[in-house]
Amino acid sequence: MHLNKYLFIFLTSTVIITGCKVSRLQTKSTGTTHPADTRPQADLIKPQDTLFITSRGDTLTSLDEEIAIGIHRLMKDTLSIIGVGDIMLGTNFPKPDYLPPDSGRFLLSGARPFLVDADVTFGNLEGVILNDGGTPKNCKNPDLCYLFRSPEYLAVHLKQAGFDVLSTANNHAGDFGDIGRQNTMRVLDSLEIYHAGLQAKPYETFIIDGMKYGFAAFAPNSGTMSIHDHEAAIEIVSHLDSISDVVIVSFHGGAEGKKYQHVTRKTETFYGENRGNVYQFSHDLVDAGADVIFGHGPHVLRAVEVYNNRFIAYSLGNFCTYARFNLKGPNSLAPIVKVFTKADGQFLHARIFPFIQLSPGGPQIDKNKKAISKLRELMTADFPENRIVLDDQGFIRYVTQ
Ligand SMILES: [Zn+2]
Repeated sequence: MHLNKYLFIFLTSTVIITGCKVSRLQTKSTGTTHPADTRPQADLIKPQDTLFITSRGDTLTSLDEEIAIGIHRLMKDTLSIIGVGDIMLGTNFPKPDYLPPDSGRFLLSGARPFLVDADVTFGNLEGVILNDGGTPKNCKNPDLCYLFRSPEYLAVHLKQAGFDVLSTANNHAGDFGDIGRQNTMRVLDSLEIYHAGLQAKPYETFIIDGMKYGFAAFAPNSGTMSIHDHEAAIEIVSHLDSISDVVIVSFHGGAEGKKYQHVTRKTETFYGENRGNVYQFSHDLVDAGADVIFGHGPHVLRAVEVYNNRFIAYSLGNFCTYARFNLKGPNSLAPIVKVFTKADGQFLHARIFPFIQLSPGGPQIDKNKKAISKLRELMTADFPENRIVLDDQGFIRYVTQ
């Protein structure tokens, strides 16, 4: 008898609890297409993001986010934004010999503690993520042609190392045609790594710790957002500035190699190809609302500058480029640049962590700190008017008078 009594109480409680849950769900539900008790919980919290697109390209989610950002949130005093240069974790094309041993687990392990320690961590994905197939790019000069096809298991290391956002605007994003581009985007989406730079994906916005970031990437290569069309780039950056707290811009531009470590402030050509005027491009985009600009493409380090209180790195060089890359002399420098900004993107200070790559590749800390001394040399030569200094520990600060 006692048992039946307890069973009765248990069953009654279950009905009451279930009933409450159903009625609460029904109160929140506004649609009629899903019975409230069959909808997954996440549906009740997330609006349908594919509906309600405005002419500005916003979804209901993004509009909600803007309102939330405007009204009630605690702004962070300081943001930390990391940038690194080219990343290619190994290629199975033209043969699998160019893949790293041990599935590449070691490649980013030394850099990981630094990369995860920031609000946002950015890098340039110099290649395609694709297990096999695709349409290999036709090559006019086979001596100059390198095609990079990284199998999907390598991309997991990018997530584990702390990358939040990657550029897909560079000269290797189209190495395996549209199949390569589509699969790269699919894999990055599945890893929840933000990305932009292909014409199919010109820009991205995302929220980390309550702060909204806009991101866009540009290059001189077909299929990517053009570094040559300043007007179109300005339009994108202005739009991002109007809907974000901080706008991060990436470009892949400038001539390549040790002869091209200086910022010329002119249009650069390399093997007959216009590689853009990276100085004018960066300044135009800061004027349009860009807060932090990370350049890469020359495979060597170039100077950094603070223009209108905004940080510009003209080339971060190679960062993690396994095999198939020249890693001699200046091409070996693989710094991590950590930029500290106010909540509106204004530069506060920065820090250079002097990593280096030894053949066949993978960044490791350089006890000789060559990236710091090289960067100081380039800053002094190219931007003597800069109001920033770089000390031996790698700190970049405003000059105090
Ligand atoms: Zn490149």
